[in-house]
Amino acid sequence: MSVDVRFCSTAARCVRLTGMSTAETLRDLVELAIVVDGAFDQNCYVLRRRDTSDVLVFDPGLQHPRTLALLEKRQLRCTRILLTHGHPDHVNGVPAVRAAHRCDCAIHPDDRVLLDFVAMLPGVPADLPPVVCDVDLTPGETLRWHDLDIRVLHTPGHTPGSVCFLIGPELIAGDTLFKRSIGRTDLPGGSFETLMFSIQNTLYALPPETVVHPGHGPSTTIGEEMLDNPFVVHPRYR
Ligand SMILES: [Zn+2]
Ligand SMILES: [Zn+2]
Repeated sequence: MSVDVRFCSTAARCVRLTGMSTAETLRDLVELAIVVDGAFDQNCYVLRRRDTSDVLVFDPGLQHPRTLALLEKRQLRCTRILLTHGHPDHVNGVPAVRAAHRCDCAIHPDDRVLLDFVAMLPGVPADLPPVVCDVDLTPGETLRWHDLDIRVLHTPGHTPGSVCFLIGPELIAGDTLFKRSIGRTDLPGGSFETLMFSIQNTLYALPPETVVHPGHGPSTTIGEEMLDNPFVVHPRYR
């Protein structure tokens, strides 16, 4: 099973870079497991508070049988699914996770229209039940989950309703920003200019030590990308 618990090392790096006690406290409190889908290299993240059996699941895709197996093996319960955006590779596992855990699911309303196209993804069965999201995410809101603050940052560009979730110094970034790359903008609703604005003004405004956990591929930091992202170098470093 391709499961990687990444929080320990990334949070440790935050602590080393900044000496921030918040990162250390967060590392003590939570862990972030990543279950990768081999077909699209898409990352499903499972955020767990160590002192409870509750988890949040971000972007369940084709790897959802392994995500569900992980939860069952560790006797964990998903209390909510959070979606970074509505593309099929990030949402096709929603019906299965909802059915198994009776949890709700949240998405930015501007991406609801994309949920109708989930069956177009290769590998998704034609009889997949509808992807139901009961909760609308509001840009700028802070979700409270077991005393943790999760900030919802609206970062349109890859899709109109793309969001990133900020949990302390950790960012679940969806397909907005990747390690040395950015989300594609050639799909319906995408906009290169809007994506650039989101990265420059919303993500690059975060502390440089913020660890970015993207929708595909390895983690990075805001500071690394400001320096070395070939698509969006921060003006300060040009
Ligand atoms: Zn996408
Ligand atoms: Zn994606």
